[in-house]
Amino acid sequence: MRWIECGGRLVTGAAAAVVLSTGINAQQPTAPAQPTVTAPQSRFVVVVDAAHGGDDTGGHLNDGQLEKSATLAMSVRLRSLLSARGIQVVTTRESDQSLTPDQRADIANRARAQACISLHAAETGSGTHLFASSLGSSSVAKFMPWKTAQSSFVTRSLALAGVLNSALTHGGTPVTLGRTALPGIDSMACPAVVVELAPARDADKKTTSEPDDLNYQAQIAATLAAAILEWRVEGHQP
Ligand SMILES: [Zn+2]
Repeated sequence: MRWIECGGRLVTGAAAAVVLSTGINAQQPTAPAQPTVTAPQSRFVVVVDAAHGGDDTGGHLNDGQLEKSATLAMSVRLRSLLSARGIQVVTTRESDQSLTPDQRADIANRARAQACISLHAAETGSGTHLFASSLGSSSVAKFMPWKTAQSSFVTRSLALAGVLNSALTHGGTPVTLGRTALPGIDSMACPAVVVELAPARDADKKTTSEPDDLNYQAQIAATLAAAILEWRVEGHQP
């Protein structure tokens, strides 16, 4: 069984502890010539996870594209928008690469992220579907079982989903909220939400934009980036 130590170590079995970067300067100052006052650096890292990849193609979109390509394009777009706003982003993949749910969780947990956005695309429904883990909430413990680490963060994941929901709704995108068992996410020790991009539809439910439409993706990515900035400003940090 794998365990995650909330203080920043990741422990596999009884051995091999991997010390994670805290992002906070742990070095002791070496006798500065003049006293300096440094405010603690606030650390805000976002993990952007393009679901599927490699042999796992995900779903087939109506325009013949594969879900794995749509999620990667969206991930690249969201990463660059967030980076341009000075937010540190860690992506789970940058190419057509196959990753297990555990590998995705491993990346998020090593990054000690304040938010993880896991991107999917679908042909069903419309607008955007937001999913949080269906795990019950539990308090943060020093050691958390790997498979259910998310249970300590479910409340904050739901809060993150709420911020994304209001930004998307305000931007005119229909949103469906749900909770489900999410392999990968359930092992993440950070606020984490699945954002599934569905087609944009008109009043007659006719598709106006497929999930991999570049303009549509740009619009959703800009809204998500604005919502993540809001999430940071609101001080939703550990
Ligand atoms: Zn998917």
